[in-house]
Amino acid sequence: MAKRTSFEEKNKHIHKSRKLIIDTVFGRTDDNQNVFGYEKEAEKKREVGEKWIDSDGKEWEQKEGFKINTTKMDEVREFLKKVTTCSGENCKTIQYSNADKKLIAKTGLCATCLAKKETPLRADGTWPFYEDYKITLNKLDYARDMKVQYEEALSGIKQQIEMVNEDGTFSKWQWDIDIEKVKSDLQNDINEAYDSIEALLERKLALEDKLRELNHPELIKN
Ligand SMILES: [Zn+2]
Repeated sequence: MAKRTSFEEKNKHIHKSRKLIIDTVFGRTDDNQNVFGYEKEAEKKREVGEKWIDSDGKEWEQKEGFKINTTKMDEVREFLKKVTTCSGENCKTIQYSNADKKLIAKTGLCATCLAKKETPLRADGTWPFYEDYKITLNKLDYARDMKVQYEEALSGIKQQIEMVNEDGTFSKWQWDIDIEKVKSDLQNDINEAYDSIEALLERKLALEDKLRELNHPELIKN
């Protein structure tokens, strides 16, 4: 069997947009451990609505009870704007209909731009391969997400959990389940996800060859 991907490797496969949102909302990127918490340095008392820039050049805003990193929120906002705007070159659509909005969310293009793109692909016979290619990419994203989730579950699962109480003492907590069984089930899920990813990658490569053969290398996504 081929070797397993390393942690860094698999982390790269989380869908970029999803990762941005998850990392931002949960403050999981390496430099913003404190997004929803407290800065390690001495805290100044801030008024609600107050904005400031910290020593690292990060922009913050004090909200009721917590502060947010506004630079990060801008990235999320920018991302959300991108997924609700037609990315067609020379798009002339001024106001999106409901159908346009749905299509943009799904394909990135409004109805007019989508038709402009699809018509020649249907005419020269590329369409079925292109459809298959897009579906394969979606499945691949999904399988990679699932694999990461199983792996996280497997690495986090323990028979006994220690929790710190408010007074600083520890409580131990025991699962009333067969932990070894859960672990082996998860390992099976990981192996299956791995196999699907392998198969989907092969399909992806074959379809990319086909798209090149049909003179449509521009449809290939990385
Ligand atoms: Zn458009």
